[in-house]
Amino acid sequence: MKVCKFGGSSMASSDTIKRVADIIKSDEKRKYVVVSAPGKRFTKDIKITDSLLNCYAESKKGKKVEELFKPIRDRFTEIAEGLGVDKQLDLNSVFASIEEGIKLSSAPDFAAAQGERLSAMILAAYLGYTFIDAKEVIRFSDNGVFNAEYTNDVAQKLLSGIDTGVVIPGFYGSTSTGRIVTFSRGGSDVTGAIIARAVKAELYENWTDVNGFLTADPRIVNNPKQIPELSYRELRELSYMGANVLHPESIFPVRKANIPINIKNTFDPENPGTLILPGVIQHDRLITGIAGKKGFVSILIEKSMMNNEIGFTRKLLSVLENLNMSFEHLPSGIDTMTLILADTEIGNKMQELVGGIREAVSPDRLEIQSDLALIATVGHGMAYKPGTASRLFTALSRVGVNIKMIDQGSSELNIIVAVKGDDYEKAINAIYEEFIN
Ligand code: ADP
Ligand code: ASP
Ligand code: MG
Repeated sequence: MKVCKFGGSSMASSDTIKRVADIIKSDEKRKYVVVSAPGKRFTKDIKITDSLLNCYAESKKGKKVEELFKPIRDRFTEIAEGLGVDKQLDLNSVFASIEEGIKLSSAPDFAAAQGERLSAMILAAYLGYTFIDAKEVIRFSDNGVFNAEYTNDVAQKLLSGIDTGVVIPGFYGSTSTGRIVTFSRGGSDVTGAIIARAVKAELYENWTDVNGFLTADPRIVNNPKQIPELSYRELRELSYMGANVLHPESIFPVRKANIPINIKNTFDPENPGTLILPGVIQHDRLITGIAGKKGFVSILIEKSMMNNEIGFTRKLLSVLENLNMSFEHLPSGIDTMTLILADTEIGNKMQELVGGIREAVSPDRLEIQSDLALIATVGHGMAYKPGTASRLFTALSRVGVNIKMIDQGSSELNIIVAVKGDDYEKAINAIYEEFIN
């Protein structure tokens, strides 16, 4: 059996959903389907999940839910009518209960989840498959942490008792008291992986709008090459570092069961896409792919004799722990240490963070630099090959990009550099030209 997850662009309109149905029907092993909410139909379009989040936020400021929900209602009505399933679904009563639910909720999760839920109801009706609400199978603890083992047991039992095909909404689940909780954005990929593990699928197909995993972000590099095969570890590095074609957490459930992932293009189904496999993949390429993210801050902490001060790093990191912040990198010299953190981790707590560091370790100097980008150059092929780092740094120097930080673990799976945010696109293109083109 195969589990197939279709993303937002695949579910964007009745026309794209007809393609989705053709893909599902063309292989009788495609019995378990996970879907996203309708995404963008054109560049300036708004994703349903964004409209729902806006609906929740504005309603809490006092605007009328019915008015805010109207464009969402219209979009789903148009999709259902286009597929001819509007009569059998009684969508008006579903819409009314969603509006009620949004009024009663005190967190955005319930609202955010409704795009996936409606999308799955509509596709199930169109295919003649059974709709299973994700709140019955995906379980979170009361503090919102995903409960993998409980979910796996429940999903296994529930799904093995159904002999038709099944459509399940991605992105959300519920707590034992029925409260809806979502994964982070892009989380339908995670749901697909969870279901693949539960039904012991032979393959997890992830259908999107590009020909698989590309060697760089196609919004930055013009027409990047496709990656035919990728290892789980390379995938984890690339997706964590910003290649958001697949959610970085989708690897964990399939890794437990050794299930390969195939990233495929709904709009070019014959293309083989990218196959993601356990282990190390043997090939002659040096670099597998490049990914990156903007929005980082560095905090340089300088103090004479820092390296003699036992417990210095612990004191520094306990400041982060107390503020519930995680950091990305911590390169160090003899008398310096640099914390690299994402803007999203710091939020509006920069003052508290800096104050905490001053109090905990009394630095001689503390310097903050914002608007940095991190770029990861990833590939098993780099290990034991002298000269890779030198080529990378030369490529960056050739285009005049200054490197703020360098990090390479001894696994040699990746080299990460920090550059100024303004240099981000230029740097990625330079690395691409050097290693891939
Ligand atoms: P879906 O809605 O199907 O889940 P996403 O928008 O989440 O699709 O992910 C697909 C998008 O990821 C592509 O359209 C592309 O713009 C972007 N992307 C970023 N980096 C990469 C990469 N390395 N390979 C492929 N796509 C990438
Ligand atoms: N619809 C959700 C989002 O836009 C989840 C997903 O598409 O995977 O983030
Ligand atoms: Mg996605």
